[in-house]
Amino acid sequence: MNGDRHAPLNVSPEAFRSAGHTLVDRLADFLASIPERPLTTAPSPAQVQARLGQGPLPQTGQDLDTLLGSTFDFVTENSLLNGHPRFFGYITSSPSPAGALADLLAATVNPNCGGFELSPAATEIERQAVQWMAELVGFPAGPGAGILSSGGNMANFIAFLAARRAQTGEEIRREGLAGRSTLRVYVSGQTHTWIEKAADLFGHGTDAIRWIDTDKQGRMDVAALELAIDADAAAGDTPFMVVGTAGTVGTGTIDPLAALSQVCRSRKLWFHVDGAYGAFAAALAEADDDLKALGLADSVALDPHKWLYAPLEAGCTLVRDAEHLRDAFKYRPSYYGFEAADEPTNFFEMGPQNSRGFRALKVWMGLSLVGRQGYETMIRDDIKMARLMFEAAREHPELQAFTCELSIATFRFVPPGLEEEELNELNQLLLKRIQAGGQAYLSNAVLDGHYVLRACVVNFRTQPSDARALIDLVVEEGRRLMTETR
Ligand SMILES: *Cc1c(COP(=O)(O)O)cnc(C)c1O
Repeated sequence: MNGDRHAPLNVSPEAFRSAGHTLVDRLADFLASIPERPLTTAPSPAQVQARLGQGPLPQTGQDLDTLLGSTFDFVTENSLLNGHPRFFGYITSSPSPAGALADLLAATVNPNCGGFELSPAATEIERQAVQWMAELVGFPAGPGAGILSSGGNMANFIAFLAARRAQTGEEIRREGLAGRSTLRVYVSGQTHTWIEKAADLFGHGTDAIRWIDTDKQGRMDVAALELAIDADAAAGDTPFMVVGTAGTVGTGTIDPLAALSQVCRSRKLWFHVDGAYGAFAAALAEADDDLKALGLADSVALDPHKWLYAPLEAGCTLVRDAEHLRDAFKYRPSYYGFEAADEPTNFFEMGPQNSRGFRALKVWMGLSLVGRQGYETMIRDDIKMARLMFEAAREHPELQAFTCELSIATFRFVPPGLEEEELNELNQLLLKRIQAGGQAYLSNAVLDGHYVLRACVVNFRTQPSDARALIDLVVEEGRRLMTETR
């Protein structure tokens, strides 16, 4: 090669500065305009594909400013805006703007958070973020006893593997499940689908899951749990883990965590809490005692991309001792048979990933920016917004309120004179109508055979007026549907 190399991906500092400023200006305008934008235009895949263009891989490139401009338009105009103050679907939060800036910083410096040497600042920021989250929710994690991952599913998987290793011994890592096909895990029927994926992916098969009945409120029946564990043990199976949920996806229900921890302690089982949604509400002084009892668990999964409002993706697993993670994931032997006190943290030895991004920065930035009090205020206000919706639904003659736990309210439209079956169909249609309408966004739950609308507020942008507007919208669209179908 003669002369200097020209790498097409390389961008001069001047070009980066100018393109970046333009992008940040556009993003600031975008943030300001979200409340006035439709929450979604509900485009079809064909429409999105047409707008994206269906050409082959381009042979040559294009100008950065032009590309960023057209991409900005395409993405902002074909996305469901979960940063909208009236977004109440699933459990997805409004993203923190500081988190977005953190991602830009993280990607630009690009530390590889697999090993300390490759990421000194990032590794220590991740350690601190993990420690702060444990402190926030009242979980007694030892030094460095946690790790970030992509989300709640991964965080629960990591805990599952740590539990399995701790309960069976190190041989399982060489021998696999051979001779251990009777390992059993106990969950309630309200548990998120991660448990099925875990049992399947990690070789147990979903038959290894024991589904324990729930009471009327959807909480795991502790007596039924004890019976199931003891019956399995008597039959020669090997119970190893109980999973309690701190905030179910459907209704925000909290399992009787204190009692579950007792059951696990007396039988020497691993007690895991899936707090992907609800764990952060344990930070509140007024939190339910059962929620605070997550501090009694052996491991907790939590989702900073839910109630810490971190932009996707960020999940976290907390354990009591960092060795629980190293025992489950580390291969390199410790040369001296013990960890030197000043041995650096290498996250590749504590979880499934090798190269790891700096997702900790956006989480740490949020915690640093607003502190414990900031998060307590936002979480408390989200709960109040859900309560407001629930009360409004309860008072409205055409609505029926069902549940309100944590920040999830469930209710349905009930015009007079309809059968149960018709109500289910009507509310299903109503949900579709609202979701496509772009004014607000809800999802649904099925409670005791009733199809209900479900509003989950993990949204620091929601005002009381937005909560009331949602209720008005449901009634208005419900009435319109009734006149159309008559
Ligand atoms: C959201 C959620 C999950 C899954 O988390 P992801 O971040 O979507 O992977 C698991 N369990 C519960 C209780 C959840 O709310």
